[in-house]
Amino acid sequence: MSKKYKAMVLSCIDPRFQPIVFNYLKKRNLNGKYSSFTIAGSAIGVTATKFKKWHETFWNNLETSINLHKITKLIVINHRDCGVAKILNRKKKFNEQNESLIHKKSFNQIKKTLKKRHKKLKIEMILISLNKEIKKFN
Ligand SMILES: [Zn+2]
Repeated sequence: MSKKYKAMVLSCIDPRFQPIVFNYLKKRNLNGKYSSFTIAGSAIGVTATKFKKWHETFWNNLETSINLHKITKLIVINHRDCGVAKILNRKKKFNEQNESLIHKKSFNQIKKTLKKRHKKLKIEMILISLNKEIKKFN
């Protein structure tokens, strides 16, 4: 838990998760050390083809934060029961397994694109449940 780095936090617009995300980051002593980019679906919104128009806005903002705030890390926080995951799931049964696949795909994609665009930036990928359970991916 280094206090030296600055990060950008990518998270979802879901109202239920605002206090969860805030408190999680506070617990990690990241208050005042991160810039926030909040968009429907978090990593799903900035990677899924369905939301293509949103992608460039995210990458532009990330680049701006790198330049302005010297961030060295991107913290991606997706969450369970996400409405955007439900949209992508379409008519399939929305269960934990199907939802996990959607999150994993978005994590893999954002990691891949980040490597291409900002090689030096570190990435953390987190999935939070409504009961505040934290699951880390890499
Ligand atoms: Zn969501």
